[in-house]
Amino acid sequence: MDPTYIVSLDKVAGISAQERARLAPVMDLFAFRSNDYYLSLIDWEDTKDPIRRLIIPTLEELEPWGRLDPSSEHLYTRAPGLQHKYRETALLLVSDLCGGLCRYCFRKRLFIEDAREVNKELSGGLAYIRDHPEITNVLLTGGDPLVLDTGRLRDILARLREIEHVRIIRIGTKMPAYYPYRILNDPALLDAIREYSLGEKSIYIMAQFNHPRELTDAACRAVALLQDAGAVIMNQTPLIRGINDDPAVLSRLLGRLSFIGVNPYYVFQCRPTTGNRPFAIPVEESYRIFEQARATCSGLSKQARFVMSHATGKIEVVGMTDEYTFFKYNQAADPDDIGRFMVYKSNPQAYWFDDYTDLVDEGRLGGSDLFDAGTADAGIAGMPGETGGSPGVL
Ligand code: SF4
Repeated sequence: MDPTYIVSLDKVAGISAQERARLAPVMDLFAFRSNDYYLSLIDWEDTKDPIRRLIIPTLEELEPWGRLDPSSEHLYTRAPGLQHKYRETALLLVSDLCGGLCRYCFRKRLFIEDAREVNKELSGGLAYIRDHPEITNVLLTGGDPLVLDTGRLRDILARLREIEHVRIIRIGTKMPAYYPYRILNDPALLDAIREYSLGEKSIYIMAQFNHPRELTDAACRAVALLQDAGAVIMNQTPLIRGINDDPAVLSRLLGRLSFIGVNPYYVFQCRPTTGNRPFAIPVEESYRIFEQARATCSGLSKQARFVMSHATGKIEVVGMTDEYTFFKYNQAADPDDIGRFMVYKSNPQAYWFDDYTDLVDEGRLGGSDLFDAGTADAGIAGMPGETGGSPGVL
């Protein structure tokens, strides 16, 4: 069921001896992991092949940049292996391995340190969830939960299902892209999903397809089996330089996902994580690519939101003019921030929300203050081309 994992570039035929030597310092810092299936998707003739870029180390990863924990996830660890940031949702970090290692990974600290945030013993995390009836959603993450053997995963699902207030169990996984045979060859996994995804207690698979070429026949069949077992499949992808930063590619990805019944959920700004400099795109350029991609999508395939997973919450970029960028908290650690709407002076060099320093106006969508005439006049109404507080897009 498991692939044979490849963790040394010596075993990758498409990489020359010179290139292996050149990449050795990168490998010392950030591990490599893949498998034959995924490597077979690479066009070795094309040095800029997006699948190659996603999985094969590049020298630029050595550029000093970013932080190991750019979203300050450690602040929200409430029990061993458990994070609780948003009221309704808890994260259980159940695995410190993935089916491959994405070069742009935002949790590479789990793979380069001794993964103290992942806890194989779940009792403390489960007790915390049991004591917090507001937690209706639990995300199994890591690492990739589908690296666990099915018996272990089934045990976790069963223990979560003993907690009445947990309605949704999400499984965050890139396995349908990295190795769809993990799903295709394991009827017991599908049985477990069928058993624990019933009525108002659903299992959501939070997949991560980053490029349309990952949607192979095998991957699409794996998705169909998961759907047939009763899971709802969503997709989230970061916008990554050289992988999906062409609007036509992103549009094709979002479109094909919708064709196979996978809902595009989030498109993420690449987090400023150590080693991620070559993959990052400035916020405003990312948003422009995102909107250009959506322009050629059907309504169903354009459901994704473009967000930054910031330490304080999921901050959505909702619009841009030549001078201003508009943000809204889609989720927030502080419930008072949910829906908070912020207008900043543009900063084309910004890679993260913290790089926006010139706040022009703020308010709460749906609240009274944003639409209060005084506030609107003071801020939005003063902007070129804007009237009555309706933010322009692009
Ligand atoms: S699947 Fe997620 S956790 Fe695993 S390497 Fe990729 S980005 Fe990191």
